[in-house]
Amino acid sequence: MPKPYHPQTVAIRCGHRRSAEREHSEAIFATSSFVFDNAEQAAELFGGDSFNDDAANDDSVSGGNVYSRFTNPTVDGFAQRLAALEGGRFGLATASGMAAICGLLLGLLKAGDHVVASAELFGSTVSAFTKVFKRFGVDTTFVKLTDTQQWQDAIQANTRLLFLETPSNPLCEIADISEVAAIAKKASAWLAVDNAFYTPIMQRPLQLGADIVVHTATKYLDGQGRCVGGALVTDDRKIYDDLFAMLRTTGPCLSPFNAWVFSKGLETLSVRMQQHCDNALQLANWLAQHPAVEKVYYPGLASHPQHQLAKQQAAPHQHQCQGFGGIVAFEVAGGRQQAWQVINATALLSITANLGDVKTTITHPATTTHARISAAERARAGIRDNLIRVSAGLEHIDDIIADLQAGLATIG
Ligand SMILES: *Cc1c(COP(=O)(O)O)cnc(C)c1O
Repeated sequence: MPKPYHPQTVAIRCGHRRSAEREHSEAIFATSSFVFDNAEQAAELFGGDSFNDDAANDDSVSGGNVYSRFTNPTVDGFAQRLAALEGGRFGLATASGMAAICGLLLGLLKAGDHVVASAELFGSTVSAFTKVFKRFGVDTTFVKLTDTQQWQDAIQANTRLLFLETPSNPLCEIADISEVAAIAKKASAWLAVDNAFYTPIMQRPLQLGADIVVHTATKYLDGQGRCVGGALVTDDRKIYDDLFAMLRTTGPCLSPFNAWVFSKGLETLSVRMQQHCDNALQLANWLAQHPAVEKVYYPGLASHPQHQLAKQQAAPHQHQCQGFGGIVAFEVAGGRQQAWQVINATALLSITANLGDVKTTITHPATTTHARISAAERARAGIRDNLIRVSAGLEHIDDIIADLQAGLATIG
């Protein structure tokens, strides 16, 4: 795909190799294996086992498909389309966002290595660090996402990876990606950024100095809440080789059908993200003036502590999408009971922990997504009992607001 195409074009045209059937829309290659013309070709294509041989000699992607745990045209088409949008040369698709994160850690780290990660991570990501990889001798230090000094101070001689998610969930705090990337570079460590909330339409971490972008495709990339999947993108051949070797051996491969859904999702990502942003901003502004709302967390509001940084990091993407994302969190007057009252009064919004969907979703973080951490940890993370998170969908904004108004009107 030539470089000059705009992202909207890349999202629609990149990553599709038309088959001999001359199909217009991408085909789904629902096949576990691929056949060879003869024994010689089979031997040749089986030749490059990147896990045992020098990884640089492995050519199985361009050499031809063997087995869908390794490569599959539909899956690779999605990975290439996403990589092109992120401005990276290499993409790898995985069975889920967590499979991408665990594949990243398995592929790049070994016992005795140290990770610095933002404390405000997705719950399962925290568990992967503290429960799974800790058992294999990888230690993690958690730091405040927005405090660059804490990142610097946490670096050790054996620090190999810095890991962050921005904006954070649910309070939408924003990291200065370039600053953390500079700290990683100085420490000869990699920086991985989970780009779930902004997607490449709003934020390209590789351009800001990150080495790897991590994706859950389950959220905005699909955008309609249909499939679970994930991906990794990098510009570094060595990182790609190590990740590919690990993924093909350990096997968290994406199903071709799900990959096809995500490829089609990417085609409409920029228009969807723009509308998610527009609805979220209108919702945040409305909530901010509501007497039953004590505080609103949204990077698009001037009151947000990283509003300027959010604007600055979003600036290069203004031609694709103007805004601050689709997630809005707010505190109602009162406590858990009042928060639940607002949630239970909704008739349109979906009470579910999922986000990044065309359907607006509403969640009480303290008793769902953040219920398994202790009350003290919740307090430190700023997750109060009166906090509600909304993922603004694509319904008409007036209907979303009316649905929330029903519950908020009952709070004194
Ligand atoms: C959902 C999510 C994940 C995990 O993705 P799955 O596809 O559910 O495995 C990782 N990071 C963030 C920020 C998420 O929102």
